[in-house]
Amino acid sequence: MTVLPIRITGEPVLHERALDVQEITSEIKELISDMFDTMDKAPGVGLAAPQVGVGLRIFVFDYEVEDTRFRDVAINPVLEIEPYDEADPDEDLEVEGCLSIPGERFPLKRSERVVLKATDESGEHYEIAAEGWLARIFQHEFDHLNGTLYADRLIEPYHSEALEVIEENGWGLSGNSWMPGIDYLEP
Ligand code: ZN
Repeated sequence: MTVLPIRITGEPVLHERALDVQEITSEIKELISDMFDTMDKAPGVGLAAPQVGVGLRIFVFDYEVEDTRFRDVAINPVLEIEPYDEADPDEDLEVEGCLSIPGERFPLKRSERVVLKATDESGEHYEIAAEGWLARIFQHEFDHLNGTLYADRLIEPYHSEALEVIEENGWGLSGNSWMPGIDYLEP
């Protein structure tokens, strides 16, 4: 079991478009295994490769809804997003967080419905039609692969509040990370 340090906003790899995985090698499989360990330890419901410093189009997720557990890796994913209106997120029900902006949460609208198309570790193609929180997780993780953090999508006043928090914590620069199980024990 290998838990990797999670990069904090400001680290360049979090703000760049990640590259396609060309081949699912033993190194890629090891990375995926480490990403699951890191997500579980954080704990989180999703984790993208750039968050552990690797600029590749891979994310893992683990979420249970109505007795169905969705736990898998998405390699080179495509996401079809049903159009939505970003105005007036609900401050109680539509609040999002990110392991790369640890301990913080802000309201953000997301599409209610998406379709994820991706490749798993054995090279099999799969599709998941997701609603609600699972759809949110997929949008959040997919964004990571394009160098977008949820803070980038916030509307005012939440965007300014997030920028303030990032500055107050000394984040927004390269070189910051935290270690699940050691730092931020109660995010
Ligand atoms: Zn995130």
